Amino acid sequence: MHVQENFSLKAFNTFGIDISARYFAKFSSWEELEQLKEIVSNDVPPTPLILGGGSNILFTKNFNGLVLKNEVYGIRVVAETPDHIIVEAGAGENWHQFVLHCIANNYAGLENLSLIPGTVGASPIQNIGAYGVEIKDSFHSLDAYHFHDKKIVHFTANDCAFGYRESIFKHDLKNELAILKVRFQLNKKPNLKTSYGIIEQELAKKKISNPSIKDISDAVISIRSSKLPDPKIIGNAGSFFKNPIIPLAKYDELKHQYDTIPGYASDKPGRIKIAAGWLIDQCGWKGYRKADAGCHALQALVLVNYGKATGQEIIDLSNQIIVSIQNKFGIDLEREVNIF
Ligand code: FAD
Ligand code: NAP
Repeated sequence: MHVQENFSLKAFNTFGIDISARYFAKFSSWEELEQLKEIVSNDVPPTPLILGGGSNILFTKNFNGLVLKNEVYGIRVVAETPDHIIVEAGAGENWHQFVLHCIANNYAGLENLSLIPGTVGASPIQNIGAYGVEIKDSFHSLDAYHFHDKKIVHFTANDCAFGYRESIFKHDLKNELAILKVRFQLNKKPNLKTSYGIIEQELAKKKISNPSIKDISDAVISIRSSKLPDPKIIGNAGSFFKNPIIPLAKYDELKHQYDTIPGYASDKPGRIKIAAGWLIDQCGWKGYRKADAGCHALQALVLVNYGKATGQEIIDLSNQIIVSIQNKFGIDLEREVNIF
């Protein structure tokens, strides 16, 4: 493993924040992780930061430890039943390319998750989701290296404690593991999810009445490309906050005051999911910019770096937004992005 010192991470996080890691290396197998003790000094934190595509991270200062870029590659079918295919992908594989690979082979289930940036290995961390589908719906299992125990551990879906943009890897096992391989159970016969109205509208626009998984993927790609800022052009990490899931009584109270407040069913009984982007927009933040930190003009949920913003400036903006939402609606917004 080749370790570099004082390594700039500007090109390794989609916010484009200009900070450096004290040590940086790439790994492509767990055997390389076993050698770690020998290559970094003892004053460095015992567990490294595993980096995928850097698309769900905000660095607020230089990272005084070891950053390991995941480059575990490979995609293969590991099992097949009459209805399903179990596909395993190396954690360093690009997520969208993996989705396209599945679509090309007619493995159904991930098409709504097209064009999400990042790696396969990060997908279980926040149980990535879009357009009514989450990876937990197709997740089979994963293998990870446990830094403290120095062994490979296997996780089933149950072990991962998946929730809305949540998993055990964001809580009890935060920063303790390197996810190495993830397996998905995909369908031979598609079970299309078009309940998000915008997908139906896009298919209707293209005059497609009997869509394939490729049609769904293409529709998602068109919708996302028209609306979300491309990190190659404007630095961002997607939705900065989670959609709050509030008690029904609180929702009814707000609905009385703000009759256009969007609320959606949630998987938590007696609770309603509110679109955080709408709340932020109502507080006047959409399109806001101070120096190079801002709130995107088309989707208020996305905070952006127009060039030279620091992580601290982005955090300060997010704090101001949190306070204004609390003052106006009495709702606590929670950050989705991982802060380091
Ligand atoms: P990173 O940002 O590199 O890492 C994220 C976290 O996971 C960090 O804490 C990191 O340490 C940890 N981690 C990463 N890889 C590993 C590993 N192998 N083992 C252990 N820990 C690891 N998310 C959605 O859910 N739905 C969306 O629709 C969506 N759209 C987006 C659109 C845009 C334009 C952008 C910029 C982001 C979007 N995101 C979305 C957020 C992001 O793409 C996902 O969360 C993605 O899974 C992050 O992958 P990554 O490889 O970039 O992770
Ligand atoms: P959008 O269509 O403007 O919708 C705003 C919010 O309303 C979304 O967050 C979504 O919740 C919710 N919503 C809309 N229609 C819904 C329905 N029929 N049923 C239940 N909930 C509904 O959102 P967008 O910003 O363009 O994003 C589109 C999709 O991509 C969303 O699913 C979003 O989560 C995902 N996305 C995620 C990120 C990220 O970084 N996490 C970034 C970009 C896009 P949900 O978020 O729960 O779906």
